[in-house]
Amino acid sequence: MALRTIRTEGDPVLRKVSRPVTEMNQKIRTLIFDMLDTMYESMGVGLAAPQVGILKRLVTIDVGDGPIVLINPEILETSGEQTGDEGCLSVPGMAGQVTRPNYVKVKALDENMEEVIYEGTELLARAFCHEIDHLDGKMYTDLVEGELHRTVYDDDEV
Ligand code: ZN
Repeated sequence: MALRTIRTEGDPVLRKVSRPVTEMNQKIRTLIFDMLDTMYESMGVGLAAPQVGILKRLVTIDVGDGPIVLINPEILETSGEQTGDEGCLSVPGMAGQVTRPNYVKVKALDENMEEVIYEGTELLARAFCHEIDHLDGKMYTDLVEGELHRTVYDDDEV
């Protein structure tokens, strides 16, 4: 296990579309552990592989209920709306208002390449949308309503 360097806005890797994970192997397992370590160390609630420079469709999330690993995630269903501050480990110290669905249902593979379905509301729904956007080269800053502002707390950065 090791910490990986988080790429920050301006790094072209963050604007690329990631490729699906086709098989589980030691390299991917190590990447998952490293991403979890890096996410916890940075006090983030989510991290996507392109944020550590790897263009694979792989996401880790923990909104306080334990780690979630999503491989090749797809959003199946959304409903409602929430508007609130959102941040990103790749845009350190900043946040901005973003409107997201308040409920999101996601299908993915877990670390054993078995299908899993997650349903999230509020922060978890926001994290699903934010991280899956990273896999398509999208940043929350594209969606911000108004101006970005500085944050004191960075524990909601995803
Ligand atoms: Zn992010």
